[in-house]
Amino acid sequence: MIYLNGDFMPIEEARIPVLDRGFIFGDGVYEVIPVYSRKPFRLAEHLLRLQNSLDGIRLLNPHSDKEWSSLVEQIVAGNESDDQYLYLHVTRGVARRDHAFPKDVVPTVFIMSNPLLAPPRELLATGVAAITTSDNRWLRCDIKAISLLPNVLLRQMAIDAGAVEAVLLREGFMTEGAASNIFVVKNEILLAPPKNNLMLPGITYDIVLELAATNRIPHEVRSVSEYEVRTAQELLLTSSTKEIMPITRLDSKPVGDGKPGSMFALLYQLYQDYKMTVMRGSAAKF
Ligand code: PMP
Repeated sequence: MIYLNGDFMPIEEARIPVLDRGFIFGDGVYEVIPVYSRKPFRLAEHLLRLQNSLDGIRLLNPHSDKEWSSLVEQIVAGNESDDQYLYLHVTRGVARRDHAFPKDVVPTVFIMSNPLLAPPRELLATGVAAITTSDNRWLRCDIKAISLLPNVLLRQMAIDAGAVEAVLLREGFMTEGAASNIFVVKNEILLAPPKNNLMLPGITYDIVLELAATNRIPHEVRSVSEYEVRTAQELLLTSSTKEIMPITRLDSKPVGDGKPGSMFALLYQLYQDYKMTVMRGSAAKF
């Protein structure tokens, strides 16, 4: 069951007009929210990021957080899996084709759900391969825009090379992955690039840094150079659907000893424990 502009329906029945600005210009933003045991995970943070993305494209939020929470709740209830991930899409609506913002147009709102499967154990045991490539996206990567063509092309470059992710480099520094944030481990210290306009402020990125702080894991939030990426002990990727995964090959060379490292093992366990605590409700914000 999906939600589209006020109605709930099977996805096969959902229709949007071809003049939707999402289709014509990629003029919209989105969110991806994981749901565990039917409870949305970090919903408040995702809704705040949605607000920031909408502000970034100068589109009024069509719903209050309370309304979004209710829509999310109904979609979760209307779909089969206990663990799901939800896409929330908002576009600038349907209007005659013109770059200029249309007046008095109602935004298109779309929510869909997919079953959420944890990354396979085998993959966590071996780690995944990544490539490096130059970050050729725009300068507002902090906006979660639906216009994902650069990310699509970058990620496909990784797939074509037999890898799962592209680690992006801009002017000698790492920004993020094509669909994830990237952490580097160097001299037993966890390194994370600072949030700015060149990367998406990941919700999982925040959790990892919170876990590092509360568990006294040495960490630094600062620019991470290409050299540090290439000589890393460990590389980790994070995202709401992939959680934390070890990158064990970069550009066909082993990262560190080529096996998932101790920082990954520790953060992975802490993340699972944190998830359980939140889902049991003791530390829940929702
Ligand atoms: N950067 C990009 C470009 C992404 O697409 C994603 C995944 N949505 C992330 C980072 C990770 O963000 P989050 O942890 O909120 O899923």
